[in-house]
Amino acid sequence: MKLHVKATAALKRRLGAKVDVSPDGRWAASFDSSKISFLPEAVITPQVEKDIGAVLELANVHRVPVTVRGRGTTLTGAAAPVQGGWVIDMRRLKRVRIDADAGMAHVDAGATNAAVQNAAAAKGWFYPPDPSSKEYCTIGGNIACNAGGMHGGKYGVTRDFVIALRGFLPTGEYVEWGTATKKFSAGFNLRDLWIGSEGMLGIVTGAVLKLIPQPATRWTLLTAFKDEVAALKAARVLFRARVQPAICEFLDRESVVCAERATGKSVFPGQAGRAVILLEFAGGVSEIAELKIPVLAWAQAEALASKEARDRDEAEELWAVRRKCSGAMFELGDAKLNEDIVVPMRNYEKFARFLTRLKRTSKLHVPTFGHLADGNLHVNIMYHRGNPSETRAAEKAVQLLMVTVVSLGGAISGEHGIGLAKTPFLRIQHRPAQVKAMQAVKQALDPRGILNPGKMFDVVRIWKYQKLQVKLPWDHK
Ligand SMILES: Cc1cc2nc3c(=O)[nH]c(=O)nc-3n(C[C@H](O)[C@H](O)[C@H](O)COP(=O)(O)OP(=O)(O)OC[C@H]3O[C@@H](n4cnc5c(N)ncnc54)[C@H](O)[C@@H]3O)c2cc1C
Repeated sequence: MKLHVKATAALKRRLGAKVDVSPDGRWAASFDSSKISFLPEAVITPQVEKDIGAVLELANVHRVPVTVRGRGTTLTGAAAPVQGGWVIDMRRLKRVRIDADAGMAHVDAGATNAAVQNAAAAKGWFYPPDPSSKEYCTIGGNIACNAGGMHGGKYGVTRDFVIALRGFLPTGEYVEWGTATKKFSAGFNLRDLWIGSEGMLGIVTGAVLKLIPQPATRWTLLTAFKDEVAALKAARVLFRARVQPAICEFLDRESVVCAERATGKSVFPGQAGRAVILLEFAGGVSEIAELKIPVLAWAQAEALASKEARDRDEAEELWAVRRKCSGAMFELGDAKLNEDIVVPMRNYEKFARFLTRLKRTSKLHVPTFGHLADGNLHVNIMYHRGNPSETRAAEKAVQLLMVTVVSLGGAISGEHGIGLAKTPFLRIQHRPAQVKAMQAVKQALDPRGILNPGKMFDVVRIWKYQKLQVKLPWDHK
């Protein structure tokens, strides 16, 4: 890895104590949730936005790689400084202001998603994009990855809530894409180009986000099914009836068994080990009361059993089990390839049958759960790192998964992005002309290639790297 000693000295002269070159500081910024570590030379924690422009100007002069870091919760390696250089840590830029009249949040990029949700809720507004990492991940990171969450199917993902952005081009020039108005048709829409660009086309310093009114009430229903095909077919029947749950979470039988072992409780008492769908409906009081009639009729016709939460405490008990399932999977292997693929609804049952075959032929556990309202499923290929035949089977399985997903009209990632982890599959999703167009955009905005280099286009098999043995605050117990 090339060192930039002179450039780092110049950076320290310019920004002083905001530049950390200590071994501990550099180590902490060397990895994200993928736990693959690449040591940067310096970490800059800006206190004001214009510091970022100064860092980028110097980086362009000296050709230093720069990686911007929200909180490092990405699972793809997108925030790991794979070519060293400097890391910009956004944690100090975190103001949140709610415009309660306009229904907008004015947010600095380093504010957490939960801070925005809480500030909005305090004024009767709702910010629906809700990654499970919301207590930690930042709005800047959410924008860079186009993060989603359980609410995606009904309300949409981060992209659907961004009104305007401000920040810096890779060259260090300050830009604003849009203003705090709900309509804006003046010029090319580069705001949307930044959303999902994984810190490669610019650094977001602030955003104006759209809010919607808080729903008056919520109703939670748990349903159990014979198997995965039955569950996914039932979900299609529900959507065909024009019913829109706010959340529609599916857990396959392996995920349910893991959660049950981890908690010592049945996910659905009396239906142990069954595939389940956990539904939440949100809206006005009379709207929800009316919805209960067709939804309960659907459950009666399609499910083996269903169970309503009588109040928020009971609903919370049901959700607590869902939250356990991801961490609980590590009893099936010490390593997992965690893929956040998307399947179009018309192919749900075909995909369920494919998964059954994949588990059988790979001889691996592949617990799968996810959001049925938008087809974003988390497929977890579990294996033991020390076992070469399991490792080979996992690599083969992930390749087959990606090819199948794309052939079914789906996507290799619905919310996590490409980073390093999905680079081997980018060209399964995109034709050569599409990749070339993306590279041309990168070249146009970042002619010196300094912003988050080595991501997206270079093929990196992340599972071949040694993982750090470190526990992060958001790791499951
Ligand atoms: C337990 C857990 C649960 C998760 N659940 C979900 C989920 O439900 N839905 C989901 O979508 N994701 C989920 N994730 C993934 C992750 O939390 C999201 O991708 C999140 O958006 C990353 O935010 P961050 O602030 O941690 O960004 P980081 O991890 O620091 O960075 C991610 C990428 O964004 C870039 N970036 C960060 N800040 C900026 C900025 N200001 N300007 C430009 N680029 C920037 C980085 O360079 C990097 O490429 C989960 C992760 C964990 C660990």
